Parts: sequence; structure tokens; C-alpha cells
Amino acid sequence: MRNINLNQPSTASKETPREINRRVVLNFIRSNQPISRADLARRSGLQRSTVSLIVEELIADKWVIEGPLGRLPRGRRPTFLRLNDQRVVACVDIRPLRTTLGFGNVTGAFTSVDTIPTPPDPSIAVEELGGRIRSLVNTRRDLSFEGIGISVPGRVDLLTHRLVFAPNLKWPITDIKGPLERETGLEVQAENAANACALSEMWFSTSDEIRDLVAITVSEGIGAGIIAQGHLISGRRGMAGEFGHVPLERDGPPCSCGNRGCWEVLASNRAALRYYFESHAQGPASHADDFGFQDLLQLAETGEVLANRALTRMAVQIGRGTRMVVAGLAPETILFIGEFTALWDRFRPVIEAEVQAQSISPEPTILLAAKDGATARVRGTIALVLQKHFAAPSSVMPISDSQRA
Ligand SMILES: [Zn+2]
Repeated sequence: MRNINLNQPSTASKETPREINRRVVLNFIRSNQPISRADLARRSGLQRSTVSLIVEELIADKWVIEGPLGRLPRGRRPTFLRLNDQRVVACVDIRPLRTTLGFGNVTGAFTSVDTIPTPPDPSIAVEELGGRIRSLVNTRRDLSFEGIGISVPGRVDLLTHRLVFAPNLKWPITDIKGPLERETGLEVQAENAANACALSEMWFSTSDEIRDLVAITVSEGIGAGIIAQGHLISGRRGMAGEFGHVPLERDGPPCSCGNRGCWEVLASNRAALRYYFESHAQGPASHADDFGFQDLLQLAETGEVLANRALTRMAVQIGRGTRMVVAGLAPETILFIGEFTALWDRFRPVIEAEVQAQSISPEPTILLAAKDGATARVRGTIALVLQKHFAAPSSVMPISDSQRA
């Protein structure tokens, strides 16, 4: 049940049922394309005339295109409808070291265009992104850009739309949205990377409807994106999901957030590297700077004992923190995103054992690994922009024509 907020009541306007039906039709086309008008009416429960009106509007707005012709045993051949996949979103995935830029369409298909080192100065980064997006829009005149979706390793304040908490990126409070919108003329939606991954799973996964899911990104830090009852939980000013900065060891190593012993300082990629270097009898290796997490994964695959031990410690710590998430939110599924999932067969039993230890839940939580974390993040940015047109304005139920009359 959701209370009506009397401070911001949204009363029904004449447009509301029409807008809801438009989104219902758009979603039926999205999940059943190609589909005929007759099938749309049958599946949605809307009248043929209503469907036809909405479809004409969607064609005029370039969301839907016609073709190809269908085949029936007899009679008139129906014209199939599908979403216009030339309508795209400019996608940006900002990570502490590298930023990826490309475009993606309504089906979640993504084309990477550029990968650049992330500038340490946010104003230079925003300027550079603006220039690259403008040139992308100019060179791809065949595409129609709907907006810009950005995944960031931090939180975005819901009130100011500024990036407010990005300890691993080390940017101060930054306005990405304003300058980028002025530079490109496109609307910008920025969101935390874990939230983007959660949205990506909800929008583009092939599994049945997702209601309760937590996406956990494990890389330089740890972030969580929470979907509860089909809604992304943002919390006060967008700060929900910072399990990574809950201290699990009071006297643990210092964290980039200023505290000590946070979950991410015990379970991130950097934690595993630290475990590995600490375990060397010769002391921390001198080549520490050019030895990264990928190198550690490769070493573990060759059977190197210390590398495997470091990754097991990381897995135990991922499991310990995940137990807190499971106890607090009771999600049906937890989706992990990160480089470590390349060795998911080794990580999974360790994480699972930690999560199930002393578990109070009657049913075990399903633990999954994203096939490709980079894709999950950018696909989430597509959903960020498209949800304005596709998502439920409130609780979406097709409103029948009799109800409208
Ligand atoms: Zn912290």
C-alpha cells in the first residue's frame, strides 16, 4: 500500500488514462514485437479503435514503425508493428580509471564508440564528454538521440541532480547534468552504477518479472542498487544502497569515505590485492603499481596458492556483507557485477556458504553473476532515459474503454 502524499497530490487529469494506455501499448509492442494491431488489442484488452489511435500517435512520434507484412492463411495481411530501433540513447559509463561512451537502443543493444581515461578534474571530464557526444550525434545523423544516460561510481542527489558521493572517483560535488545538457541540447539522466545495473536487470533480463532484487557491484568499491516490489529504492536524496560503507571491522583498514573497516575496504578488488601483497614473505611486491586485479585472477587460474588464498578471503568478505543485505531486505535474487565473476564457479560456493550461515530466511536467496558487468552498466543507462516513456506512471493497469467512458 502506498499513502497519498498530501503535500504533492497528483490528481487524475484528463490525460492520465490516455498516457497510461500509451505506455501499456508501448510495452506490449516492446515485449511482443513484431505484433499486429489486432494482437495488441487482444493482449492488452483495449478496444481496436483505442489501439489504432495510440499506434498512429506512436508512429507520428517516431517511437514505433510499421513493417514487415504478416502472413495469414486467408484475408488481408496485417502490418506488423515494432519499436523504432533507430531511436537511441547516448550511454556513458564513468569509472574511476576509464569512461566508456556509446549508444544503445530500446532493445538494450549497445554499440561502444569510445573508451577514454577518466580525467581527474570533473569539469574537464564533463567538457570532454560534451564534445564527444556532440560529435557522435553529428556523425550519426541516421539515428535519433532521445537523451543521455550516465552511470557513475557515486550517488546522485535527487534534489540537486549533482554527483554527491564518489569517494573512489575522488570528484567533489559535481554538476554533470547542467553543463552537459547545455552543451548537447539533450536531456541527461545520471544514476549510480549499481542502480543502473539493477534497472538493466529489471528492464532487459529475459527472466520473469523482477520484483525484489539487489544488484551488488564489486570493483574499486562496492555499491548496491535495490529493487523492491518493482521499484528502484532511492532513499533520502538518493543515498540508499551504501552497504559498502557500513563498517564491519571497527579497527579495519581506512576507507576512502573517511571511516575504517567498511565492507568495501574488506571485499573489493583492492582488498584482494592487499591480501595478496600482505601474504608475500618478501613483503609487498615492488611491482604493486602495475599488478592489477585482472593479473591476480589470472594467477589464481594457474593454481598459484597465494592468489587463490587472497581471492577466497575476498569471497568470504563479500559473503559476510551480503548476509547483511539479505537479512535487511530479503531479496529474491542478488545479482553480482564485477571482474571477480569471471571466476564465479570458485567464488559462488564460498559466498553462498557465508550468506546461508546463520541465515534466518526460510528460503535461500538466489545468487547470480552478471555475464558482462560493463554491458549491465550501460544498458542501465538506456533504461534510465527510456523509463520516462515506458515505465508505469503509478500502478499500471490497462484501463478498459468502458472504465474510461
Ligand atoms: Zn567507507
